[in-house]
Amino acid sequence: MTYWIHIARSIDRVTLHRDRCSEVPSHSTSSDFWEGGWFDYPDKERALRAMEQAGTNAQRHCPLCKP
Ligand SMILES: [Zn+2]
Repeated sequence: MTYWIHIARSIDRVTLHRDRCSEVPSHSTSSDFWEGGWFDYPDKERALRAMEQAGTNAQRHCPLCKP
């Protein structure tokens, strides 16, 4: 299963999602790890590590898809 993280620098928050979450954009958007955006990972461990590395104050798990 693919996991997605959404880095939102403007609100200093990163959110973890599952592949099929309705909040995950179906079209790729411009993403830059230091600017923010959506990033996909092939497993949860890597996604969690990326969340740590994002360095935002808040780390959330999406309440919709409950990853
Ligand atoms: Zn979600």
